[in-house]
Amino acid sequence: MAKNYIFLGAPGTGKGTQAAKLSEEMKIKHLSTGEMLREAVAAGTELGKKADAYMSKGELVPDDLLVGLIEDQINSGALDSGFILDGFPRTMPQTEALQEMLEKKSIEIDAAVLFTLPDDVIVERLAGRGRADDDESVVRNRLEVYRKQTQPIEDFYRKQGNLVEVSAAKDIDGVYADLKKVLGLA
Ligand code: AMP
Repeated sequence: MAKNYIFLGAPGTGKGTQAAKLSEEMKIKHLSTGEMLREAVAAGTELGKKADAYMSKGELVPDDLLVGLIEDQINSGALDSGFILDGFPRTMPQTEALQEMLEKKSIEIDAAVLFTLPDDVIVERLAGRGRADDDESVVRNRLEVYRKQTQPIEDFYRKQGNLVEVSAAKDIDGVYADLKKVLGLA
């Protein structure tokens, strides 16, 4: 059976790295909206031009652009053999739109995984990453945005009974081992 996961957690928790590892091992699609948007910016597409102004300030790109992006992926069949959504949903309207799109296709989420890490560790980690949107003030803004917009999503999946939590404090292999344990894969 194809497995469908949503990875939640602040920037810098390493959820992208974990998503890459798990998707490779399980042969399921890793869909990182941040990565897709950065590619669109680099390629200078219409989407990229619109997204750039928000991303460079650490703000969220408008919901309709993100929902359209995910809708295209679902409709193209790219997610049919299982997926990890990494960086989406980020707001409650995105969460509700996703729920509706999945229900229409009778796709169920196996787990929403929340990666947890204290803020000071996050700032330290991101400062060392050297990406354009990882400047300290931008990082702090992204954390602030995360707290306001994304935290209610945790409660949404918790109420559904789908939320599992993994501490992101260990090294990559340590977190991966814990991840597989909470997903019942190890
Ligand atoms: P990430 O690599 O997931 O941290 O995403 C980098 C940036 O892309 C974010 O700071 C946002 O500006 C934008 N972004 C990525 N995913 C979303 C989303 N689901 N909704 C809105 N903006 C997003």
